Amino acid sequence: ESFESANLRKYVLNNILKSGYKKPTPIQKHAIPIIMSGRDLMGCAQTGSGKTAAFLLPIINVLLQDERELVVSPNAQPQVIIVSPTRELTLQIFNEARKFSYGSVLKVAVAYGGTAVRHQGDNISRGCHILVATPGRLHDFVDRKRVSFESVRFVVLDEADRMLDMGFMPTVEKMMEHPSMVPSGERQTLMFSATFPEDIQHLAGRFLNNYLFIAV
Ligand code: AMP
Repeated sequence: ESFESANLRKYVLNNILKSGYKKPTPIQKHAIPIIMSGRDLMGCAQTGSGKTAAFLLPIINVLLQDERELVVSPNAQPQVIIVSPTRELTLQIFNEARKFSYGSVLKVAVAYGGTAVRHQGDNISRGCHILVATPGRLHDFVDRKRVSFESVRFVVLDEADRMLDMGFMPTVEKMMEHPSMVPSGERQTLMFSATFPEDIQHLAGRFLNNYLFIAV
């Protein structure tokens, strides 16, 4: 019922408190322990449910468990890839990720279409742990060999139903099936969607490995 009981590191708890969150929302209550246990997850939740923090907090908590793995060298490849359908949502996730990792060694980068590639590319090339991106722009960076998936520990597919409606799934599939992508049993994959129709169930079956399902 409280963030304190979720077994999060003090550092993460402090950043939650600084955000003014008093207690976890239902999706956070259920998703945080599942993600921290290492399982794949399919979560049905609307925008406004607190789903962003539901995946960011445990991911940041896990990354900070072993700071030796977080040494940032230029061209270090992202350990967390978060894709979402729109620039607006991508920026929201990016800002929350920066807020929750504030003061740590974690580096967060963002990539979305409609603006120059250069600045975003520089941030990625300096080495980042968490990359938040729209599918198309991410694919551009992969094509240009600026990003690879060889160091991925977490993949988050946010608002999967909207990505499907907007025609992004072929691009998302290319990412999930990219030769550099860490195999599904060796990474953790989290998928969120407001609805769970048959085509999303099918994608969950393909992208996730022995996953748990929660709906709020
Ligand atoms: P989301 O569903 O992730 O878009 O979050 C919706 C809004 O709720 C955002 O403005 C969050 O900052 C806020 N929020 C998320 N979790 C909590 C919480 N546990 N307590 C209060 N506000 C929260």
